[in-house]
This record gives sequence, structure tokens and C-alpha cells, in this order.
Amino acid sequence: MRVDLDHPFPLRECPSCGLDVPSNENRCPICGYEFPTRGAMHRNLWWIALIILLVLLLPLLTMLRS
Ligand SMILES: [Zn+2]
Repeated sequence: MRVDLDHPFPLRECPSCGLDVPSNENRCPICGYEFPTRGAMHRNLWWIALIILLVLLLPLLTMLRS
């Protein structure tokens, strides 16, 4: 993730205690609530799906060419 030092991190509200936690913090400093890192997980799943697709398609393409 790119970090822009000219701008402060956007705040997100802790669902457990209501504190505004900077988005670069994955854990609330007050109550210890851990924010889900779903965005990064989604990106990883897309890459895995893409790689699997390529692995499945490459033998098919070489078969069609020969
Ligand atoms: Zn909290």
C-alpha cells in the first residue's frame, strides 16, 4: 500500500468503543479491537484465481497451436 505523508490517514470508527482509529492502525489502541483486513485478502484471492486460470489455459493454448 502506498503511503502519502502529505495527507493524514483517514479515520475509521472502532465498532467496539467508537474511537476514531487511523486506517494505518489495524488494532484499536483503546479496546484492542482488530479491524478485518478484507481488502488485502480480496486482492490476494484475485491473483490466485488469475494464476490458476493461466495454469489451466496455457496447456490448452499450446495444444491448439500444435
Ligand atoms: Zn476500540
